[in-house]
Amino acid sequence: MESSSGGPGVQPIAFPLLKGQKALVTGANSGIGRATAVALGRVGADVVVNYVSGRDAAEEVVREIEGFGVRAYAHEADVSQEDQVVDMVAAMVKEFGTIDVMVANAGLQRDAPVTDMTLDQWHKVLDVNLTGQFLCAREATKEFLRRGVVPEVSRSAGKIICMSSVHQLIPWAGHVNYASSKGGVLMLMATLSQELAPFRIRVNAVAPGAIRTPINRSAWDTPEAEADLLRLIPYRRVGDPDDIANTVAVLASDLLDYVVGTTIYVDGGMTLFPGFATGG
Ligand code: NAP
Repeated sequence: MESSSGGPGVQPIAFPLLKGQKALVTGANSGIGRATAVALGRVGADVVVNYVSGRDAAEEVVREIEGFGVRAYAHEADVSQEDQVVDMVAAMVKEFGTIDVMVANAGLQRDAPVTDMTLDQWHKVLDVNLTGQFLCAREATKEFLRRGVVPEVSRSAGKIICMSSVHQLIPWAGHVNYASSKGGVLMLMATLSQELAPFRIRVNAVAPGAIRTPINRSAWDTPEAEADLLRLIPYRRVGDPDDIANTVAVLASDLLDYVVGTTIYVDGGMTLFPGFATGG
């Protein structure tokens, strides 16, 4: 497989790590969410493909996942709306019997310099990126606690994986709503993890660096933009959605059962402060 940046691409994960488990991925009709939903299906999970718009793309993801011989269906819900998230998880429990893995991935940007940023732009990003993750984690947790550990399925009672960003750590001028939402995700994840670990619920985060998806197209879709971006990435390649999907699949599995309350940065070294390689 050739990567979008040339050379050998990311090898998709293919072991039955999540056989018999039920997973829900939010924002799964595009980018990282799409690759993650497919990866979870490939390693044996039944998958709910959440989307908010673009039903056709979601149905395509469903068909791809069904090709692995597991079950999948698409569910439209806006993760920032409490009633829609409650209904989505309830429908999954009805359809699949339970939930084992919640991947709170849906996210967006509404960028502006602070003096131009409207309250609507601020609220929209916080509502989807942070409140949406809270609602998804809360509803999944209710089912994890009700069901408890089923040893034949998994060592844990459930896994929550929050899609964060390197911007939970790296300040980002012109994106104060987005960076604040991801800083919030860090504390959401850590606090939930502290609260829920005694119930054998594992909460962790994955923090992507620059991954080639529609959310950041302008950062890589011309050679000049990509060259600029690569200066921030010590490993000198833009990430592929499968880089994140593989990480989520392994993190959700019992292989990483002792990983609790941690963020895994998947960023080609972006958080290594590359400016200090030659300066400072
Ligand atoms: P993307 O391709 O734009 O996908 C974002 C997904 O979120 C889309 O499926 C979108 O659905 C969905 N979404 C937006 N608002 C929603 C809502 N209210 N309810 C449900 N779903 C909603 O971007 P991506 O890069 O894959 O981003 C996925 C996650 O990774 C985000 O949390 C983002 O912050 C994070 N991340 C990405 C990068 C990167 O470099 N790409 C880096 C760090 C972190 P629609 O298309 O239907 O609106």
